[in-house]
Amino acid sequence: MHVIATEEAFATNEFLHAFSRTAEGSRSPGIQYPARILARPEMAGLLSDIDVRLRVMDEAGIDMQLLSLTSPGVQVFDADTGTLLARAVNDRIAAIVHEYPKRFGGLAAIAPQDPARAADEIRRAVNELGLHGIVINSHTHGEFLDDPKFDPILKTAEELAAPIYIHPTFPPEDMIAPFQRYLLEGALWGFAAETGLHAVRMVMGGVFDRFPNLQIVLGHMGESLPFFLFRLDNVQDFLSGHAQKPPGIASLERRPSQYIRDNIHITTSGMFWDPLLNFCLDVMGSDRIIFAVDYPYEDSRRARDWLAAAPIPDAQKEDIFSRNARKLFRLGS
Ligand code: MN
Repeated sequence: MHVIATEEAFATNEFLHAFSRTAEGSRSPGIQYPARILARPEMAGLLSDIDVRLRVMDEAGIDMQLLSLTSPGVQVFDADTGTLLARAVNDRIAAIVHEYPKRFGGLAAIAPQDPARAADEIRRAVNELGLHGIVINSHTHGEFLDDPKFDPILKTAEELAAPIYIHPTFPPEDMIAPFQRYLLEGALWGFAAETGLHAVRMVMGGVFDRFPNLQIVLGHMGESLPFFLFRLDNVQDFLSGHAQKPPGIASLERRPSQYIRDNIHITTSGMFWDPLLNFCLDVMGSDRIIFAVDYPYEDSRRARDWLAAAPIPDAQKEDIFSRNARKLFRLGS
């Protein structure tokens, strides 16, 4: 079975250097934490060296990786630095995809700090570089994509049918403190709390009424959204208790669960667990679930072996391993 993994982190040495320089001058826990991870001696090779990566893929039985700039991406920088770094990263990813078209696809990094230039970069990355979508490492300095200031990004992504992978990052400054006590600000809980919040804000903010064809991708089996499909649909009951309706919500054209099923795909990154797979197949359907590992932070072999052995029909396995990714990201086989 052809295996495409779709949340696979990449970095250039230039990005890693710029990030570590920024981290040296920052006391923000959302920068310090990833800086410690990215400073591990093996990380530069795993993230930037293509021969190292191809060896891991071959050993694990991964045919193709969709590359994306590692979290926290360029969003921690000022707008000018972030915009320039994103362009350089995208050029490098495009060169790799060009050299190994059967082994790699790529998502474009953008700097939402400057929405107009980010939209320009989406057009360049998709139309000129041939990249397959966009990665946004969730909030940008505490702001989320439901804010209309980011509409140029969403509009361009919709026009070009470029999916946006909203990849987790650490909770913003005004959210992170209660998570820090038990090391919950990262993959254990904080990523899903922050990125799940981001996606729910987009649903409730009417983003998918403004951009009905926009496709969002969430890792980690949907950052908890499938679990909440039933409860989110209670929104109208919740609102009936309020004299003044918060803006946006009351005018939603579809039920929240419907936006999630129509406009969101979920991936398996870091959630290699049969009961969860069965649940998500039940509530989202096999055409909305896509295989991902989360290289190099999760084990590629373990991820691939898990899905290969999962107790589901082969047709569904094929959907998840490759067919859905090929269709959504328009990848060649
Ligand atoms: Mn990841």
